[in-house]
Amino acid sequence: MSALVVRVALPVPIPQVFDYTAENITPGDLGRCVRVPFGRGEKTGLIVALPEDADLPVERLKPVIAIQREAPALPADWLAMVEFTARYYQHPLGEVVAMALPPRLRKADAVAGTEADPLLEATPEGREALHEARRDSRALAILRRLAEQGPRRRSLLREEEGAPAVADALKRGWVAPGAAADAALMDGAPELTAEQQAALEVLSEGFGCFRPFLLAGVTGSGKTEVYLRLVQQAIAQGRQALILVPEIALTPQLEGRVAGRFPSARVVSLHSGLAEGARSQGFVQAMEGRADIVLGTRLSVFTPLPRLGLIVVDEEHDASYKQHEGVRYNARDLAIWRARQCAVPIVLGSATPSLESWHAAETGRYRRVELASRAVAATLPRVRPVDIRREKLQHGVSEHLLRAIGRCLERGEQSLVFLNRRGYAPVLSCPSCGWVSRCPHCTANMVLHLTDRRLRCHHCSHEATIPLACPDCGDQDIQPFGRGTQRLEETLAARFPQARVLRIDRDAARTRAQWEALLDQIGRGEADILVGTQMMAKGHDFPRLTFVGVLNADSSLFAADFRAPERLFQQLMQVGGRAGRGELPGEVMVQTQYPDHPLYKCLEAHDFVRYAALQLEERKQARFPPFAANALLCATAPEVAGALAWLAEARAAALPLAQAFGVQVFDAVPMRMLRLARRERAQLLVEAPGRPALQGFLGAWSRLLWSIRPPRDLRWHLDVDPAEV
Ligand code: ADP
Ligand code: ZN
Ligand code: ZN
Repeated sequence: MSALVVRVALPVPIPQVFDYTAENITPGDLGRCVRVPFGRGEKTGLIVALPEDADLPVERLKPVIAIQREAPALPADWLAMVEFTARYYQHPLGEVVAMALPPRLRKADAVAGTEADPLLEATPEGREALHEARRDSRALAILRRLAEQGPRRRSLLREEEGAPAVADALKRGWVAPGAAADAALMDGAPELTAEQQAALEVLSEGFGCFRPFLLAGVTGSGKTEVYLRLVQQAIAQGRQALILVPEIALTPQLEGRVAGRFPSARVVSLHSGLAEGARSQGFVQAMEGRADIVLGTRLSVFTPLPRLGLIVVDEEHDASYKQHEGVRYNARDLAIWRARQCAVPIVLGSATPSLESWHAAETGRYRRVELASRAVAATLPRVRPVDIRREKLQHGVSEHLLRAIGRCLERGEQSLVFLNRRGYAPVLSCPSCGWVSRCPHCTANMVLHLTDRRLRCHHCSHEATIPLACPDCGDQDIQPFGRGTQRLEETLAARFPQARVLRIDRDAARTRAQWEALLDQIGRGEADILVGTQMMAKGHDFPRLTFVGVLNADSSLFAADFRAPERLFQQLMQVGGRAGRGELPGEVMVQTQYPDHPLYKCLEAHDFVRYAALQLEERKQARFPPFAANALLCATAPEVAGALAWLAEARAAALPLAQAFGVQVFDAVPMRMLRLARRERAQLLVEAPGRPALQGFLGAWSRLLWSIRPPRDLRWHLDVDPAEV
């Protein structure tokens, strides 16, 4: 048989695919991994096309080394999605593929987890045995579970009770593969409130076609409950559901809540903490249609789902949906693209929608569905600003706040003090000569960490020991300046010696396991006062938490980044939403020097709608998104001059195109934080009236960019729809 051409995407940082020859190629090989010679070595890539003709004369092409045929090929709609991602975010296709595919799958060896995974149910003999059994065993535990809760996937039972117990139960004839996959069982589901019911009815009209919905529901309004009902409907139709959640929100509690609700469904959970094998296995299960629900963080938007019927993006405003390195994609936006591609409904849920999504709802592109009241607690917490202009603070905390914490303690309830700054103090400084602990590699200060006695840069992770005296003048009286969570913890512990103070930040929760242990500890009521950063603002329920105090919010009010106030408002609404989620009423106090600022006024009134209107008006005036579409071209070099010179060249190349597409290309400027990890940074902003104009321009411009030869030490990237400009 004659050799045929395969086109391969390889993980190399150039926008190009590569042609090879291969024997016995069939259309089924599209989407398979392949091992090819590259340069002096070999690489693994993905077959993305089977072209009739190669770019080069066929005699000059090299043959592939091996095609990975044990694992299933990636489906066409998946290829279309990675191709779209590469095009939209202006990133080499091979690198997008390398990011989206679990590494195990890329290797040219077979992936486990391709065996059948039947639903098991209790047999009549099993039910009899259950009554007669004297001694307990694991096989019996399986039997009891199936008898009480209905059929369950074999793989799930193996995870829960161990494979030998499952084999034992099967051998004894107590359990057997069920007749059919019945619809998901609702176990322990509360009756929906009238509002939830109404929302569900509107949302379920969307099945079977592309319909974007914005589910705007105050914190605690029971959005998750609504998602679960929709998921149930999707499964009942024999479809798969994809649920995206922010990284920090994907905990065993949530996994348990989803899995517990659908005991007969196969739930795959995908997040960054997973071992490589588990990620590959989940991916394959989803791709083969054996997973019914995929619950995952940003990266799981790339999970192949042949029976996809519904997409949910929870906390759709969350910043963690945007990736800040490598392929700079936004999973929420890709999820919308995917819903359109697969003609399925997508539900974006949030108590504080992003202004982009809110605007889309205002202008009718998304259908808005509201949940205005809490599902259990009758009222929203009382929010008020605490004017700190005239008050003397005690280590940064106002007496009002301290007294509120004291009252909370007396009632035996939990309180949370929110400070979005970890470490003991943001800087160490010398009162005599003005020395401050700067990072030698960044335009940033080294943060003082007292728990492990280090100075640490939060940008490049550079560390140093704490000097005993000022390195410049020798003064021994160097002082921490300002405060972070560790210092606040110390202050509160001193003021309330009888209370158990618990700090929750990225230092206390370095690993997923630590984070989960902390959540459990809080849930069990083993802490009275929590000191936390934004980690605490994400959807967790603490029924005994009734008071939230917020410190240092003002710093975001006048930040240079145009999204900072939006993020502050979202964070405060979310963190305030932690208060009074159970039967107990909640209270929130925000320390501020600007008690009359509109942001705080809207917060007091729980008025997201007014706040959004104010912000959107400002954005419109300033021509910021969603009233414009942006991209940044960023360059880094040992010296900023090199970066600026290259950007100037890039801008010159852009100008003729810019006119044709009606976009504006601004001058290159050094970044606000000039130095990061020994490199200096500059950027250039492109502003377009909308996404189509921006995309047209970028497509043409990036081809030119690749052809401008950069100096050796320069690196550049494009950031499309950047989070910050
Ligand atoms: P959200 O995601 O909107 O913040 P959740 O879905 O987490 O809210 O619900 C908040 C709390 O209310 C949870 O403890 C949930 O179990 C409970 N809840 C939700 N809906 C109902 C309902 N219909 N009846 C009783 N409790 C409910
Ligand atoms: Zn000094
Ligand atoms: Zn640094």
